[in-house]
Amino acid sequence: MASVSFRDIQKAYGKVKVIHGIDFTIADGEFVVLVGPSGCGKSTLLRMLAGLEEISGGEILIDGKVVNELESKDRDIAMVFQSYALYPHMTVRDNMGFSLRLRKADAATTGERVDRAAKILNLDALLDRFPRELSGGQRQRVAMGRAIVRDPKVFLFDEPLSNLDAKLRVAMRAEIKALHQRLKTTTVYVTHDQIEAMTMADRIVVMHDGIVEQIGTPLELFDRPGNLFVAQFIGSPSMNVLQGTLSGGAVEALGARWPVPPGVGKGSEGQAVHYGIRPTDMALADSGIPARVVVVEPTGAETELLLDVGGQQLVLVMHGRTEAQPDDTVYLAVEAAKAHVFDGTSGQRLT
Ligand code: ADP
Ligand code: MG
Repeated sequence: MASVSFRDIQKAYGKVKVIHGIDFTIADGEFVVLVGPSGCGKSTLLRMLAGLEEISGGEILIDGKVVNELESKDRDIAMVFQSYALYPHMTVRDNMGFSLRLRKADAATTGERVDRAAKILNLDALLDRFPRELSGGQRQRVAMGRAIVRDPKVFLFDEPLSNLDAKLRVAMRAEIKALHQRLKTTTVYVTHDQIEAMTMADRIVVMHDGIVEQIGTPLELFDRPGNLFVAQFIGSPSMNVLQGTLSGGAVEALGARWPVPPGVGKGSEGQAVHYGIRPTDMALADSGIPARVVVVEPTGAETELLLDVGGQQLVLVMHGRTEAQPDDTVYLAVEAAKAHVFDGTSGQRLT
C-alpha cells in the first residue's frame, strides 16, 4: 500500500495544454474518485500516474518517492480498464496469472495467488473458461482479478463499469467497494458518473477542463459545493440554479424572494448571484412562492415535479405522492439553510 501525491502536474499534447497544474495527495489506503465531464483530463492524469503517459511538468510521488522517470512496470501499480483487455486465447486462470508469469513468479505462488483472487471475486467455478464464455460482468471481475493477483501498491480504475448495463453497474460498484474494504489497497478510480463517485469514494476530486474544482468527501461536496460548477455537477437531479440579486437578506429572482442562510451575502446588497436549491430542498406548502405544475412523474416512493416559476423550469422531488396536476398552481416552501448562493461573476460560493 502507498500514498500518492500530485505536485503541480501539467500535461500538454504538442502545443495544447490539457492539464493545468494539479496538486493533491491520496492517503495510504484511501479510495479516491476522479470525476468530471468527458475530456476534462481524468484518464490523462491516471495514465501519467501509471507511467503510460509522459509528464510535461510537476512531480508524481508514490510513497514519497518521485516516479516521473520510473517505468510503468516498476511502479508497482495495477490498472483496470473499461475495455477489460483480456487475452481471448487464454483461460481465466491464465489471464489472471499472466502478469506473475511475466515476472517469473514460480508456478506454485502464481497458482496460489490466482486461487485466492478467484475466491475473493467468486470466479472459482470459471477458471477454465475463455473470455468469450463469460458475461460482461464476469469479464470485468477477471480484469479485477488480474490486478489483485499482482498485489500492487496502488489500484487504478479507468471507467471500469461503462460497458455494463445499469443493473450490473450497481452490483459491480458494490463489489469494488467491498473489495477495497477487504484489501485496503490505495485506489484511484476514474468515472464521469457522479453517482458512482458519490457512492464509492472516500474522497472525490472534481475535475473540469484540466483543473481541480474541489476535493472533499461525497457529503462535503453535496452539502457545501465551493462553486457553481461543483454545485451543478454533484447531485441528481441537478441543483436548480436561478439568476438573481441579493436584497434585504434574500435573493430576488423570477419575481419572487428566495430565502438564504443567515449571514450569507451580508453587506452585498444588490450583488448579482446564482441562487441554488436542490430539488429535495423545496417542498409543496399552503403558501409561499407560486409555481405552475408542468409535469408530474411518480416513481412510487418519490414524486418528481417539473414546475414553472416566472418562465424558468425548476425540479422538485418529494417523498410520497401528490394530488397536483399539470397546470395547477402550487406553492413552494424553500429551506433557507439548504440554499446555496454563488457570486454572479466568479461562481464562487458566498458564505
Ligand atoms: P477524460 O478521461 O476526462 O475524458 P482525457 O484525459 O482522455 O479526458 O483527455 C483530456 C484532453 O486531452 C481531451 O481534450 C483530449 O482530447 C486530449 N487528449 C487525450 N489524449 C490525447 C492524445 N493522445 N493526443 C492529443 N490530445 C489528447
Ligand atoms: Mg477518460
